[in-house]
Amino acid sequence: MTLALTVAGCSSPPPIAKQAQSAKPVAEAPRPEVDLSAYQKGRSQPVKDPVFPAYGNPAIDVLHYDLALDWKPASRTLSGTAKLTIRAAKPVTGVTLDFGRALKVDQVTVNGTGARPRRTGDDLTIPLAKPLKAGEGAVVTVRYHGRPRPVDAKQRRKDINMLGFRTGAGGRAWALQEPFGAFTWFPVNDHPSDEALYDVAITVPKGWSGVAHGTYKGKTTKGGTSTFRWESTDPVASYLTVFAADKFRMFKDKGPRGIPITYWIRPQDMAKTLPVARRMPAIMKWLEKKLGPYPFPSAGLVATSDSGMETQQMIALGPRYMEPSVVAHELAHHWFGDTVTPRTWRDMWLNEGFAMYFEMQWYADDQGGSIDTYIANIRRLDAELRRESGPPARYRRDSFGQSNVYYCPAIMLHEIRERIGDKKFFGMTTAWPQEHRNTTQDRASFTKWINQHTGRNFTKLIDTWLDSKTTPR
Ligand SMILES: [Zn+2]
Repeated sequence: MTLALTVAGCSSPPPIAKQAQSAKPVAEAPRPEVDLSAYQKGRSQPVKDPVFPAYGNPAIDVLHYDLALDWKPASRTLSGTAKLTIRAAKPVTGVTLDFGRALKVDQVTVNGTGARPRRTGDDLTIPLAKPLKAGEGAVVTVRYHGRPRPVDAKQRRKDINMLGFRTGAGGRAWALQEPFGAFTWFPVNDHPSDEALYDVAITVPKGWSGVAHGTYKGKTTKGGTSTFRWESTDPVASYLTVFAADKFRMFKDKGPRGIPITYWIRPQDMAKTLPVARRMPAIMKWLEKKLGPYPFPSAGLVATSDSGMETQQMIALGPRYMEPSVVAHELAHHWFGDTVTPRTWRDMWLNEGFAMYFEMQWYADDQGGSIDTYIANIRRLDAELRRESGPPARYRRDSFGQSNVYYCPAIMLHEIRERIGDKKFFGMTTAWPQEHRNTTQDRASFTKWINQHTGRNFTKLIDTWLDSKTTPR
């Protein structure tokens, strides 16, 4: 996610294994088990969030979401079928998912058999006829429809007050959600510690486009509708998903090493947006020099009506964020946030500190300036940011995404750079994402790693910069 103020100003086949066919009679019929092997890359170790404990369920680990979504702009209605392949992280007698109360559940099945779910607020609990032991799997399918509503995040920052599914003039729709809100458009374990693989199909009226996270796999048009398919073969945290339906035009481009890129832009936004979007290949090339290879098979930009967000493989930028420095910020997140994801919202600094730092470094290089100037400027704000919103790793509950989690840890990174020099510093910023691709991490693992990697002890420096109520001296 970016700050308002920047330095620049397909349905898969059901993976249910057939019952073992044995020539010899056996004493006990084998229990039909769900084969989870196809989606091992979506395996996580979910935890409860210390900041937003109402969202996410550490008892389950969703490995794969297969979403078939149909958006009707005229009636502003979303119909969906969500097929979730789930691994029990603990023994469970039911599966509880986050799912917006505005959406009506039409049918639920577990491994193909009908189930009767219970609704409690924005929770959907699906009882299991047979409880699952830890490690066992189930395929849960939820068919639903309704007019999605965003969720009030109760934040001081105005642009993230309402999260999740939004609609605008003519029935255009978009959904962005950090730290939570994917549940406003599909049933989900809405927490960054439970990353999963995705197949998404979005059906819209002919002439419209349906855009999601992941790699674009093409569209089919039948009668009056078109279906756009998207695939994520690397795990995605729910806050890094995106939905956008609008009269976009699509443009193709190529990034470093031939990485396919698509841009999705409305005709009326073209003049301002396309020149900014076209800078993506050069910015990716710059980032690769500092951070190693871009960690995903494709990239993209969708010009949504709001926000600046590092949605995975498809950054989402509203008109007021349409700046090359913001593109650099959201792309930097693909190394810091997307491929290496903070396990809980306590460690948002692990995203934003690095993204802010590389936004500033990119801007300094682009303008022929020095990052020292920008660091000096934000250092003057540090004390006030800590007073206003709390220390970056102990921010106030109503102060999610405030400048403290961006600027204060960026200064900390600069302090580390000054101690070890450029060569070791950029060696570190390359090794961290490349060695931890497709994982979630936290402060303890980062600190342990950086101490080993550099042969220095940065524990006190990191703890002080993240926890101190006053600017460290
Ligand atoms: Zn950000």
